[in-house]
Amino acid sequence: DILLEVRDLHASVEGKEILKGVNLTIREGEVHAIMGPNGSGKSTLSGVLAGNPAYTVTAGEASLHGVELLNLPPETRSHEGLFLSFQYPVEIPGVSMVNFMRAAVNAKRKYLNQEPLSASEFLKLMRQKREIVELDNKLASRSVNEGFSGGEKKRNEIFQMAVLEPRLAILDETDSGLDIDALRVVAGGVNKLKTSKNATIVITHYQRLLDYIKPDFVHILYKGRIVKTGGPELALELEERGYDWIKEENKD
Ligand code: ADP
Ligand code: MG
Ligand code: MG
Repeated sequence: DILLEVRDLHASVEGKEILKGVNLTIREGEVHAIMGPNGSGKSTLSGVLAGNPAYTVTAGEASLHGVELLNLPPETRSHEGLFLSFQYPVEIPGVSMVNFMRAAVNAKRKYLNQEPLSASEFLKLMRQKREIVELDNKLASRSVNEGFSGGEKKRNEIFQMAVLEPRLAILDETDSGLDIDALRVVAGGVNKLKTSKNATIVITHYQRLLDYIKPDFVHILYKGRIVKTGGPELALELEERGYDWIKEENKD
């Protein structure tokens, strides 16, 4: 079944059009990679889907399992199963990971008309999910991302994703700044969370992440449009040839 359907999406920042007609269909069970030069609009696309108020949608539609997303507040999109991991994770001093995650999980359960998890149920869930990303128990009691290393922040994000069990996860340059071991753990976590019912969008500059997270489709976003779609071999071609040929093919 179709999970995400984006049609002719246009969006602007401060009056400047960034997305110029994005079309994208993602089915359950699929992994899609979005690549493209800096400034192409990759983060804008994820921000627009997640409901970041910095972006203004000027035309088009986006739906998640049939639910129109673009008029929903960000937290409702999250409750509907969208998860966005940030290129630069925020720190939330004074709020422990445990309390942050418990609030997030129970807000979602409330939206779905489910009872909140008890303290012991929640701790059991945390323990299970922590193992997926090999996250240290000590991190869970610290403030969200405060003083975490780059690798710990990324691992923590995959942990949050594991706990929230989204239908569609968007990982925006989750690999940037990761050493090879952290990369392997993060990618391994993403792979373990894969089911036939959910899907992942991986935004990355580097083919190396795609050695670990195998995409079914690779899209090139350039100047606010998806200008090319292929299989994993397209990422290899980009690694080898860079983006000049894409720029050449898409001159104004
Ligand atoms: P990518 O993620 O592909 O590198 P972005 O979506 O971050 O690209 O950026 C696309 C364009 O939008 C760039 O020209 C960038 O400068 C601009 N842009 C993005 N966010 C903002 C913002 N908050 N204010 C002004 N310009 C922005
Ligand atoms: Mg960028
Ligand atoms: Mg970006």
